[in-house]
Amino acid sequence: MSRRLCDMPLPDENGYFGEYGGSFIPEELQQVMDEITAAYLEIKNDPAFQEELQSLYRHYVGRPSALFHARNLSRKIGGAQLYLKREDLNHTGAHKINHCLGEALLAKRMGKKILIAETGAGQHGVALATAAALVGLQCHIYMGVVDIAKERPNVTRMQILGARVVPVTRGTQTLKDAVDAAFEAYLQDPVNQLYAIGSVVGPHPFPMMVRDFQQIVGQEARAQFLEMTGRLPDNLVACVGGGSNAIGLFTAFLNDEQVAIHGVEPSGRSLEDGQHAATLSLGKPGVMHGFRSYMLQDDQGQPMPVYSVASGLDYPGVGPQHSLLKDLKRVTYVTAGDRETIDAFFELSRVEGIIPALESCHAVAYALRLAAQLPPEQTILINLSGRGDKDLDFVMENYGKEYCQDI
Ligand SMILES: *Cc1c(COP(=O)(O)O)cnc(C)c1O
Repeated sequence: MSRRLCDMPLPDENGYFGEYGGSFIPEELQQVMDEITAAYLEIKNDPAFQEELQSLYRHYVGRPSALFHARNLSRKIGGAQLYLKREDLNHTGAHKINHCLGEALLAKRMGKKILIAETGAGQHGVALATAAALVGLQCHIYMGVVDIAKERPNVTRMQILGARVVPVTRGTQTLKDAVDAAFEAYLQDPVNQLYAIGSVVGPHPFPMMVRDFQQIVGQEARAQFLEMTGRLPDNLVACVGGGSNAIGLFTAFLNDEQVAIHGVEPSGRSLEDGQHAATLSLGKPGVMHGFRSYMLQDDQGQPMPVYSVASGLDYPGVGPQHSLLKDLKRVTYVTAGDRETIDAFFELSRVEGIIPALESCHAVAYALRLAAQLPPEQTILINLSGRGDKDLDFVMENYGKEYCQDI
């Protein structure tokens, strides 16, 4: 039946995952996307390119990232055994470097001079600026001035890495306006620039390409888990913003029908009053930012304001492959809220000595809930997508008094 779709090569040649994905962009941009698609399909099957990328994963990023059996936490919960795929240990501290390196190498191959992107909290900007420095390309990062003021350390990192941080002063001066500004700049010179999208979103070929670059996460985790335990995990859990770390873990397991897969979206402050970013849980299919997927949109088709305590998750859309996996019921999409996310942040820090990114804490929070309902012989593999260094000040300012006695 429909599950068979997981066996077919996805997306189809027009970039569709079932009815989702595709490319809804102006004609001039379509030509550029077609060139990127052609160049990507070429390097995808080019052993020299793949060798170069694998070599960077190993010697630059520090792959394979560790798989860790969180015994203390498992014991404390008293249910299923929890395992962590440690993407937080990568160079630059998250999974984003996996696809930024791929995009940078592709740009170099295509003879581009400049990598261009928008950034909100600065995580994608830092990962891309890192890849650009290594590969030898210029890097222009568009960022709203409100975000620039809020995310000083990441702005400084990008500048030290040699990137140009372009302040965006229009509109709300945040991520949405930065996307518009970056796209306009891109259209002015698509010959010398490559727009490096930061997740499995946007027009074809980005949902496919970014997924392919992230697949390494699941490939490693599957082999590591088999070696460590002699079997496959019973459950996978990953947080879902645009969906790149989740699809990176899930892809290697999609045909293992005995593995239950869970994607965790942020229910933020509340699912009722709109202060969340639970796109798959509460959204509807629509078109935005050049592709078709579940979206949180108003009646005019405009993106709704979204919110999460983890800024890397507050996006009103989601990668098109996740929309298909939801409809097929191959992946179950659930939510975790701010409060349990902060609990999970301190829990993992104190019980295992690992300070996780707030995004990843959504996966941890849901996994803790799931583990408590399962017997100890069951297993849960969590994608720990990033480390919490970037969140320290925010967490202490807002929750320090509650969780730390000496403040
Ligand atoms: C950006 C980010 C995410 C969200 O992006 P996805 O594309 O959904 O993976 C999750 N975790 C961390 C640590 C991030 O930096």
